[in-house]
Amino acid sequence: MAKLYFRYGAMNSGKSTALLQAAYNYEERGHQVLLAKPGIDTKAGRAIHSRLGVDRGVDVMIGEQADVYLLIQRQRDEIQLRTGRDVSCVLIDESQFLSAQQVNDLLRVATLDQIPVICYGIRTDFLTAAFPGSRRLLEIAHSLEELKTICRCGRKAIFNARSVGGVFVFDGDQVAIDGMQVSYESLCAACYLRESGGVLAR
Ligand SMILES: [Zn+2]
Repeated sequence: MAKLYFRYGAMNSGKSTALLQAAYNYEERGHQVLLAKPGIDTKAGRAIHSRLGVDRGVDVMIGEQADVYLLIQRQRDEIQLRTGRDVSCVLIDESQFLSAQQVNDLLRVATLDQIPVICYGIRTDFLTAAFPGSRRLLEIAHSLEELKTICRCGRKAIFNARSVGGVFVFDGDQVAIDGMQVSYESLCAACYLRESGGVLAR
């Protein structure tokens, strides 16, 4: 019975590294994997970028309106044609940016097509609210697994504070990919509340 997995964590919890390691494990045993990520993440273009320095291109970018079930079916056909083997596992990076409907599609891939789908992503945004894809994954994934990272104080970090020009901000759009100005720090609840003045959401 194939499953839909959601492996979530705060930023810097090694999600992309874990994804690339999972891909390697499959391939080492002669299996084909399909790597995908939502198109909204422009940070690394078509690549999955791991902080440990390993980069790898994805097989397919998922557009905002894309029918993911159909998209994966097409990619499977293409990989099968090219390699003579079907896909053994679908791995999705930055899955917080998927829509709820696209996550539903992934459950169908796991359940109807019997292909495991492993999604990696951030649970909540900088205001501690769930991203659309993460919310749906928390609702319907067969398996939830937390990837842990440490706050500056040594406790487990669960939130992602946004800073602009070195100052924490608690207002703005949900999506602002790291750039020149914007950066994020993974914090525990206590440190987050201290920085936000006790405020958790909008
Ligand atoms: Zn802390």
